[in-house]
Amino acid sequence: MRRNKQSYRCSFCGKDKSEALILIAGIEGHICEVCVEQAVEIIEEELYNNKKEAPEPKPQPAELNLPDNITPRDIKNYLDEYIIGQEVAKKTISVAVYNHYKRLRNTTNEEDDDVEIEKSNVLFVGETGTGKTLLAKTIARYLNVPFAIVDATVFTEAGYVGEDVESILSRLLQVCDFNVNAAEKGIVYIDEIDKIARKTDNPSITRDVSGEGVQQGMLKMLEGTEVNVPPQGGRKHPEQKLVRVNTQNILFICGGAFDGIEKHIARRMNTHVIGFKAEEKAAVDKENLIKYVNHQDLKRFGLIPELVGRLPVATYLEPLDHKTLIRILTEPRNALLKQYTKLFALEGIRLNFTEEAISYIAERAIDYKLGARGLRSICEAVMNDAMFDLPSDRSIKEFTVTADYAFEKLEGSKLTVLKLKKAA
Ligand code: ADP
Repeated sequence: MRRNKQSYRCSFCGKDKSEALILIAGIEGHICEVCVEQAVEIIEEELYNNKKEAPEPKPQPAELNLPDNITPRDIKNYLDEYIIGQEVAKKTISVAVYNHYKRLRNTTNEEDDDVEIEKSNVLFVGETGTGKTLLAKTIARYLNVPFAIVDATVFTEAGYVGEDVESILSRLLQVCDFNVNAAEKGIVYIDEIDKIARKTDNPSITRDVSGEGVQQGMLKMLEGTEVNVPPQGGRKHPEQKLVRVNTQNILFICGGAFDGIEKHIARRMNTHVIGFKAEEKAAVDKENLIKYVNHQDLKRFGLIPELVGRLPVATYLEPLDHKTLIRILTEPRNALLKQYTKLFALEGIRLNFTEEAISYIAERAIDYKLGARGLRSICEAVMNDAMFDLPSDRSIKEFTVTADYAFEKLEGSKLTVLKLKKAA
């Protein structure tokens, strides 16, 4: 049967095929691109604007499971199990979190309203891989509160390409299944806060979209306010219904490497130390100026004074030396070498590392300049072949990683001195 050309029309508006850009065929008729667009608009209006709600918050627990009668010392003891060194940072955050926790309890105690304990958001200054994120994460685990990590570099001032600062809280909402009550007691770690520093010390002459504007955007949130949060984050879901989150009790921990801040510290200390006795000058640890960091240096670096003011607890993390890296490899509860030993034990193999091997791995991590972060990739490179081969050789019951073996695996050299003890 010959088809009548006239029948190729949009069944909705009657437009002829020759007038339409696209005519999509269905079982009974056709639809043109204009009608498709209109249909999409109608669907969005009907389904999303009127009916699509934010994800249903889960039933809210009466109280979060915060430990009872904790002391700063208890918090620090817990941190000690997971974090090596960084005594100052651990003590500082233990006190800050303890006070924050007391403040949380105090808000439910209505008798004592006149003195309000301000919240003590924390700032960590320290090279990459020194344990800033680990500290924040461990604290959140201890308190059993929702915890989110966000990267300050993805945010831009409202109205520009990038995420709005409000989406910092979207991550927090997501980790606690949109339980607003829980999120309002959570901890947010904002990484790379130094990357949104103002580029020069002068208040901006030209607009600085990525830096100062973002800092400005964060002020209210850090201080404590009601924020309208897009639960799915970003701007990809313009139809989503905003969720109101009060940030009054959310603890913000910011961290950054602040590369080059030493020169501001040195300059300040030089002017400061002049006029003091020679021995006081000598007591300054020039190798590790970061330990003297203060709010003045942070402002010089490019954080706006208002932001610095909202991060009243500033502390530092020391660069990790060879000895500390060795301790990190072996001592924490979930130390890397303990993890490999457990993995091998599950295969029925006893795994040993010689002292030299451990020392060698730590040395290489220093070369990588990634702090303890480098340890994992070095260990993976060293252990990968063994993890591949040994499960297929049931006769091996013990395996020792020597410095030479580690060297060979890492450098691809032939210096293998592998000590395999075959089972009898
Ligand atoms: P940062 O946030 O300072 O860049 P991270 O906290 O992410 O560094 O550290 C990276 C990894 O290195 C952690 O997951 C942890 O395994 C290890 N690490 C870093 N510092 C320490 C430390 N002081 N004690 C124990 N492990 C550490």
